[in-house]
Amino acid sequence: MTNVIDRNKEPVLAVYPGSFDPITVGHMDIIYRAADLFDELIVCIMVNHKKHCLFSEAERLEQVKMLFKDTANIRVDSYHGLAMAYAKEKKAKVLVRGLRSPEDFSYEYNMTFFNHRISPEVETVFLGASMDYVNISSSAVRELLAFGGNISGLVPKEIEKAIIERGGKYE
Ligand code: ADP
Repeated sequence: MTNVIDRNKEPVLAVYPGSFDPITVGHMDIIYRAADLFDELIVCIMVNHKKHCLFSEAERLEQVKMLFKDTANIRVDSYHGLAMAYAKEKKAKVLVRGLRSPEDFSYEYNMTFFNHRISPEVETVFLGASMDYVNISSSAVRELLAFGGNISGLVPKEIEKAIIERGGKYE
C-alpha cells in the first residue's frame, strides 16, 4: 500500500510567473491563494525585452518585493527566459496560472502541452479569477494610465503610490 505521508514529505514549491507590469489586485488574489495552497511560492517577474514595459525589471522587482516583504512563504525573483525553464531550474513542483476567461484557458491549455515537453515533472495548476477581479488586467491598467484614467482599486495602494511618485497623473 502506498504510504501517503511519505509521498507528501517534500515541501511543495510553486512558481507564479507573469509580467506584473504593473501587479494588480487580481494578481495579488492569485498569489495569496497559491501561497495558502503550497508550502512556498516564488513570484517570478518574466522579462521580455521585445515587450515594451511600463516598469523596468528593477522597478517591478522592487515593487513586488515590497508587497511581500512580511509574508514568510513568498519569495520574489525575475527571469529572462521561459517560465517553465525557470520552474525546472528551481526544482519547483507546480507552475501557477490564473484564468479569467475562456480565452485565457485556451491559451494556457495550449501552453501546458509545450511546457510538459520542457519539464514533465512540473504540474501546471490553474486558479480561476475571483469574481471581483475577473475583468482586471495589467494591460487595462496601462491603458487607463495612458489616458489619465483612475486606477484606484485596480492595483495595491503601494503600487498606486509608486505610479504617482513616478509622475503618472490621473484624475
Ligand atoms: P502575462 O504573463 O500574459 O503578461 P500577466 O503578467 O498579467 O500576464 O499575468 C500572469 C498570470 O496571472 C497569468 O496566468 C494571467 O492569466 C493571470 N492573471 C492576470 N490577471 C489576473 C486576474 N485579474 N485574476 C486572475 N488571474 C490573473
